[in-house]
Amino acid sequence: MRLGFICLTLLFSGFVFSQATPYDFPNPIDTNDKEITIQKKETFEQNGLFVDNQFDGARLNGLEFVNDSTITIQINPENSPINPSPWYAFRLWTNTERSKQVSITINYFENVKHRYWPKISYDRDVWTRLEESQVAVADDTLSVTFSFTVKPDTTWISAQPLETSEDVRKWSQEISSNTLGSFDVIGKSRMGRDLMHIKLGKGKKTVVLISRQHPPEVTGYYALKAFVSRLADNSRLSKKFLKKYTVHIYPLLNPDGVDMGHWRHNTGGIDLNRDWGYYRQPEIKQIADHVVNTVKENNSEVAAGLDFHSTYYDVYYTTSRSMDTRYKNFTDDWLNYIESNLDGYEINDKPSGLGSPVSKGWFVTQFNIPGITYEIGDDTPPEFIEKKGKVSAEGMMKVLLDSK
Ligand SMILES: [Zn+2]
Repeated sequence: MRLGFICLTLLFSGFVFSQATPYDFPNPIDTNDKEITIQKKETFEQNGLFVDNQFDGARLNGLEFVNDSTITIQINPENSPINPSPWYAFRLWTNTERSKQVSITINYFENVKHRYWPKISYDRDVWTRLEESQVAVADDTLSVTFSFTVKPDTTWISAQPLETSEDVRKWSQEISSNTLGSFDVIGKSRMGRDLMHIKLGKGKKTVVLISRQHPPEVTGYYALKAFVSRLADNSRLSKKFLKKYTVHIYPLLNPDGVDMGHWRHNTGGIDLNRDWGYYRQPEIKQIADHVVNTVKENNSEVAAGLDFHSTYYDVYYTTSRSMDTRYKNFTDDWLNYIESNLDGYEINDKPSGLGSPVSKGWFVTQFNIPGITYEIGDDTPPEFIEKKGKVSAEGMMKVLLDSK
């Protein structure tokens, strides 16, 4: 009797938690857990030269000193088969006062090709690409050799700048200090890391932005940062937009993968961007439910859903215009805005219908809107990522404010 009363009270006071609806995509994928190998954390040393992987984001699976200044490194993925995005990151230092020239060769697991041009940092903050003259990719592209100066203090080498869960948290908290912003943690990854959420605005309608399902895709995360900073810049446009719309941002969907230096998967050994119909992985389950529940709770509707990634070049994976979705003109209006506001830029638009259970299709199945994957090239210059991110945010705000 009493329990019944409580249940009824919960029901009528709106405390029913809504969940994302499972969906059978045309191309099913097994996203049940697979085993991963956890990299051993180690420090290597020879004659006063040290190399280690004992920090978040590191990946280094084996090391051999050929001589005092020549090193061979082995880089492996968390499990396989896996998309070829061979991430590496390690640091070096010496126990002398003098700098030292070092040459490193990286060999990758099986026949995976070298992909990420080495970046160097002496403070973990400012990163530079090594010069062309410092780097030699093997003819078969299966390994890379590069030389550089190791300073007595720490020298960092990484496939892309390090942006670990702590870095993402700092940025998220900073951007949420906008007058219309807030930051919270909506759940935990499989290994207990925070699933972070930023809310901007207080409008009736909803926009959803997600990023970093795939750990090495740092340039995609930079695109998200640029995009969000334009939304939160307190300009007239932004203020007007955030009165009509609320933007929910999930900046890091795979914090375990990022901090553990994974090539692609979470610690369930799964590509999270294939689980958007099943919700077998805790990261996707919690974020998908959070979006669905928030929208229901606020009696809102989702107007746009963007997922930020990186690949070999800039491309937009869009939803086929032949699909009968709401906000049907959003994609074309938005892409046209971006193209006409970036000098000499040609949009690379690759539309498709529902295929595998990816986030783009999830927006169609849950909210009947055209989902879009915003892909930035691995080597797209930071200034252009920034510029395009801002123009894209401006375009989205204008197009949505104009739509009914
Ligand atoms: Zn990706």
